[in-house]
Parts: sequence; structure tokens; C-alpha cells
Amino acid sequence: MSLLSIRDLVFRPAGASCAAILDHLDLAIEQGEVHALLGANGTGKSTLAYVIMGCEGYRPSEGELLYDGAALAGLKIHERARKGITMAWQEPVRFEGVTVADYLSLGTERGAADSALELVGMNPALYRDRMVDRSLSGGERKRIELASLLALKPRLAIMDEPDSGIDMLSTRDIINVISAFKERGSAVLLITHREEIALIADRASQLCNGRIICSGTPEGVAGHYKKRHCGLCDGTECHYV
Ligand code: ADP
Ligand code: MG
Repeated sequence: MSLLSIRDLVFRPAGASCAAILDHLDLAIEQGEVHALLGANGTGKSTLAYVIMGCEGYRPSEGELLYDGAALAGLKIHERARKGITMAWQEPVRFEGVTVADYLSLGTERGAADSALELVGMNPALYRDRMVDRSLSGGERKRIELASLLALKPRLAIMDEPDSGIDMLSTRDIINVISAFKERGSAVLLITHREEIALIADRASQLCNGRIICSGTPEGVAGHYKKRHCGLCDGTECHYV
């Protein structure tokens, strides 16, 4: 049985007259699998992540999400988190007045927090007492957020990389974090626009116009992603670079 099975998912924002952002999307993520999701800007990658997380305003319009075979419908973010579904947000965390050690110890004990910091390449002695606020760079906050996810040992970690602008973590950093998740047995939905990162996944899928248009080996899907024509929307509605 798949860890997460998404069937015929349609998402239209409430009250919006626009077309569905997710349009009869099917996707399965297996236990312990690193699954890369490739797609151009605006294809619905972040929306899919928010629907899986159960964010406010992101209830599926149609279709179902099965987690360990049971429907996720109606479960709030914290209830999904308790079931092991977590996410690193596109914007890294910022909490005024909270130290790194406190933030990392919210869901775990201190020793685990220190080792999680080491896994993201941060010296615990240098960062433990820093505040998780503006005094840390975007990249440092991103690492700390990933350390908190690692410390939680989730069953499904969703990583949503920024679509544009400066990549906050290097390819090497991300590969190290993904390896750490894999060692812990976590499945990862790795949302990325970087082909070299997608290549470390076990499997990959390409999203276009709210649908999964191909799934398979990371090499195969990355090769498809690079082409202008995706096969579904005859190249006119895709905005591939
Ligand atoms: P990606 O992460 O692949 O870049 P998004 O999931 O952020 O894409 O967005 C997909 C499309 O849906 C974009 O065109 C975006 O403007 C639109 N969109 C996202 N959220 C909403 C919303 N709440 N209401 C209307 N349109 C939205
Ligand atoms: Mg996005």
C-alpha cells in the first residue's frame, strides 16, 4: 500500500472563477520513497503541497487523498503532523523571541536537536542560543527548519523549494538533508526546479497545468521536463524555460 495515494484531485480556490489549479491529478508516494516533483512556475506545485498538508482554504474540490489507506479529508494541519506529515515551507521560519534550541526542542529532546543541527551542517554550540529571527540569514533559517523536520522523524516530509530568486541551500546541502531523511525511513516529496536535485530521487513526476503528465525514473522525467512540449497541452500552454 502506498504511503500517500492522491486520486483524481481537483482544487479550485473558493469563490474563484478561474480554472482548477489542480486538475484531476493522480500521484502515489511510496513508504520511504524520495519522490521529486518537477514543474515550471505556476503549474500548481505549492498548491499541491498545501492541499496535502491540509492548509486553511486548500480543501480538495474533488477527489481523495489516502494516507496509509485512510482518507485525510477533514484533518487539520496539526492532526496530519501527528500522523507524520510535515513540510518545509517555501519561506523559511521566523519566530521572534525563540532560540534555536527551543525551536528544535518543541517536538523532541535536546540531544536529537543537536544531532539534527549537525546533519544540516550547523555547529550546535554556535547556533543553539541564537534567536530564530531576522538575525539569521534566510539560508540559516532554512537549515534550522530542515533540522526541526529531521528531528521529528516524519513519515512524509514535503520540501517546497522557492521557484525563483536565490536558492537558499546549495545542491550539496539539499542532497545531504535528503540522504538524512532517507536514512530515517522518511518518504520525501521533493518539489524542485533543479534537475540535478531531482536526480537524487528514487522516482520523479512532472506537473503541468495542474496534472501529473509523466512519472518514472528521475533521469527520464528530467529529460522530459527539459523539452518544450509536454504531450498534454501541445506546448502552447506550458511555459518551460
Ligand atoms: P507553483 O508552486 O508550481 O509555482 P502555485 O501552486 O503556487 O504554483 O500556483 C499555481 C497557480 O495557481 C498560479 O497561477 C497561482 O497564481 C494560482 N493560485 C495559487 N493560489 C491561488 C489562490 N488561492 N487563488 C487563486 N489562484 C491561485
Ligand atoms: Mg511554488
